[in-house]
Amino acid sequence: MGKRMGLMPDETERTFGKDAQRNNIMAAKLVTEIIKTTLGPKGMDKMLVSPTNEIIVTNDGVTILEEMQIEHPAAKMMVEIAKTQWREVGDGTTTSVMIAGKLLENSEKLLDKRIHPTIIAKGYRIAQKKVHEILNEISLKISPENWQALKEIAMTAMTGKGAEEEKEKFSDIIVSAVKKVKVNGKVDTEDIKIEKVVGEGMSNTELVEGIIIGKERISKEMPKKVENAKILVIDFPLELKTPEIDTKISITNHMELQNFLDEEEKSIKKMTEKIALTGANVLFCQKGIDDFARYLLSKEGIYATRRVSRSDIEKISRATGARIISNLNEIDSSKLGGAEVVEEFKESGEFMTYIGGTQKQKAVTILVHGGTTHVVDEIEKAILNGLFDVVSSLETGLVVPGGGAVEMEISKRLREFCRTLKGREQLAVEEFANALEFIPTTLAENAGMDPIDVLTELKQRHDAGEQNAGLNLFTNKVENVLTSKIIEPAKIKFQAINSATDVATMILRIDDVIASKPSRKGNMNSMGSLPGYMEGLS
Ligand code: ADP
Ligand code: MG
Repeated sequence: MGKRMGLMPDETERTFGKDAQRNNIMAAKLVTEIIKTTLGPKGMDKMLVSPTNEIIVTNDGVTILEEMQIEHPAAKMMVEIAKTQWREVGDGTTTSVMIAGKLLENSEKLLDKRIHPTIIAKGYRIAQKKVHEILNEISLKISPENWQALKEIAMTAMTGKGAEEEKEKFSDIIVSAVKKVKVNGKVDTEDIKIEKVVGEGMSNTELVEGIIIGKERISKEMPKKVENAKILVIDFPLELKTPEIDTKISITNHMELQNFLDEEEKSIKKMTEKIALTGANVLFCQKGIDDFARYLLSKEGIYATRRVSRSDIEKISRATGARIISNLNEIDSSKLGGAEVVEEFKESGEFMTYIGGTQKQKAVTILVHGGTTHVVDEIEKAILNGLFDVVSSLETGLVVPGGGAVEMEISKRLREFCRTLKGREQLAVEEFANALEFIPTTLAENAGMDPIDVLTELKQRHDAGEQNAGLNLFTNKVENVLTSKIIEPAKIKFQAINSATDVATMILRIDDVIASKPSRKGNMNSMGSLPGYMEGLS
């Protein structure tokens, strides 16, 4: 209507009511279809080819969804779930998106029965609240000193990923890393850095006490090793002309040019003098350092690195106590950090910098080795899954059985709860319970097992009171997965339920989509905005 009345530009795309709803649900379903085949230890990887022909092979939910460059608005909201899950927990991205997709798919059945979307949304909210209660009831407490259990959690996270072969070793590394940086029972993942090196096999991956950054000193004239390091950290460039500011100068003769250059050189000289005056013998710079500054710094005997990433700069600052300085005027000796040693070393043909014995806070680095960039990237993600899961478990002290066991138990209890409800919301709570079964059935399906058989057996055993019955994909049997050491942090499930419910209810309430620009392929109803290879899936 708005379009016809001329309220909006001609190219505005608008879908209303049922069309809008069904179209959004369809998009959510497509996203789910795509990533569900990666779930669990037997999930397959995806190969993604970028427009510039770069290839990524991955099993990671967020990476897949990010690389797909999805444009459909509702599908984009699904991608956000994965990102939130990654930010909040660091694992369970596929699970969270799948639950949201299933909640939306199941809501279609209710819409067909003419149940109003707001009733469905309300029912889903009731269910979400109940799931929290149930999760609190069935989660198991682990003591923070239970290193063995924490190791098993890390192993569960890495099962079936690129890191699988070495998951035993990686779990030891993760748990030792966490132990080393723990302060008053708390772990900040900022104190654990992962540095990747291409070269040698993944079994050469090691835990190093201290920080390693993939940067070399910028001149061979600089000392290779500095003991009792006084560290200065800056995030502005030491260059003749600040590249960020596009300045224009008009010079009419040779003398003017010379004067200008002299002035610039003077200012660089002043900067390096000021740095040297603080007593700093190591400099980490987030931006560039030009040749002249490099020459002056090496004359002062300062070990300097440039273009250090922001996250590394922050880690160095945290561990050494150095303040990140953004302005030359702020430089003084009180802002320096300290470490016992800063040293350049070579690993698999690459020069790197090691910072050991940091003054303020202990830090460790997991130095990941692998044959190619693709391999190290995948190992990094798997290690991060393991690491975050261990940290989440320590934080809350709550864990749950994996292999679909916790989803089955919640589903069962939610169904019991649903019988106590009146009104149409009851049907929505029931669909919520059904949606959770999607996790065990997909785990089974991805392993080539019959999902119906597995689900039936799981249901029977949970009904018989076997709370920890799940699908063990080492043995392909339904059994007590706690005994089989398939354990996950409860936080994964809390967060997955929350973000899935949030997005599902939000998408459900939409009945009017106004898109101000036509999508690349035109019509939103044809799902044209999703990449070509997604078409035909449903
Ligand atoms: P997500 O991105 O959701 O973390 P994953 O591919 O990491 O997806 O798979 C996680 C699922 O795999 C969880 O439900 C977990 O319980 C399950 N899982 C992990 N190890 C096993 C195993 N050995 N047997 C059965 N299920 C497992
Ligand atoms: Mg995972």
